[in-house]
Amino acid sequence: MPIQVTLLSHSEAPMRSLYMAYRTCYSQFTPQQVFARIEDERITEEQMRAFIEERLKTGHASPLEQVSFEFGISGVSRAFSHQFVRHRVGISFEQQSQRYVTYKKGEFPYTIPETVKKAGMADQMEDLFVKVGELYEEMVAAGIPAEDARFLLPNATNTNFKITVNFASLLHMCDLRLCTRAQWEFRKVAALMRSEVMKVVPELGRYLQPKCGEHRLGYCDESEKDWAACPIGRVRPHKDALFRLYDAHRRGELAPLREQDWDAIESKDEGVSADGR
Ligand SMILES: Cc1cc2nc3c(=O)[nH]c(=O)nc-3n(C[C@H](O)[C@H](O)[C@H](O)COP(=O)(O)OP(=O)(O)OC[C@H]3O[C@@H](n4cnc5c(N)ncnc54)[C@H](O)[C@@H]3O)c2cc1C
Repeated sequence: MPIQVTLLSHSEAPMRSLYMAYRTCYSQFTPQQVFARIEDERITEEQMRAFIEERLKTGHASPLEQVSFEFGISGVSRAFSHQFVRHRVGISFEQQSQRYVTYKKGEFPYTIPETVKKAGMADQMEDLFVKVGELYEEMVAAGIPAEDARFLLPNATNTNFKITVNFASLLHMCDLRLCTRAQWEFRKVAALMRSEVMKVVPELGRYLQPKCGEHRLGYCDESEKDWAACPIGRVRPHKDALFRLYDAHRRGELAPLREQDWDAIESKDEGVSADGR
């Protein structure tokens, strides 16, 4: 079963909600007056966008909790769902039950990871799942309730969610789960959530990045070993490298400009750089 992520609903006017939330903090106007000024277009969409953009550069994050998104998520494994429900703040989950839903004829949907397919072991995995399904069916027929028969089922078993998540929490989730250190299935779900938000409110969607993204921390705070192994590491500095640079600066140990650097700066040949380009 393929993974599907669908944005089912969201705050009526996310940018207006966010603008109102921030503006209320920083304005002599009441929220009602701010609302009226938006309605009669004394405050334009562009002004709202620019104001929000500036606020998003600050640490004032609580207004982000006032915008929410509802997603339908299907075809994910129970391996994924164990990780998903660890997110505790600003998110509400409803998940398909294995107590109230009994798999008919012992046929349960499941996910086989690409690595297993590439290793040529998918058939073995599927053969085992057929046997699991047969025993599950036998148990249910023997009167064992689904909530106990499910003890047989693997982490690969698919499940479905309906969730509501606020924007602050979605940013945090993407910080962690778009990072290449996160599990592939979670990265995929987070990326699909991002692309759904991009369709309706790209001004906010573009902030949904791994934490090293230019709209988030801008650097990697994982271990240096993980950073070195990450393909994005080539375009993102590591936190320790930034501190080393800062310490060197404080000690006055920054490498001084060299003769050839000055040659490049003072080059009389317009358009030609020191390295001849
Ligand atoms: C790469 C990766 C590997 C992981 N490996 C493991 C693992 O091996 N084992 C494992 O058990 N989990 C693991 N996790 C899950 C991880 O520990 C978190 O449970 C999960 O990422 C949810 O993150 P969170 O707690 O920040 O989010 P939320 O639960 O949404 O919380 C958001 C933020 O609220 C604050 N907060 C929430 N609750 C409290 C509280 N009670 N007290 C104080 N502050 C709070 C924290 O600042 C937190 O970051 C892993 C996660 C990742 C991304």
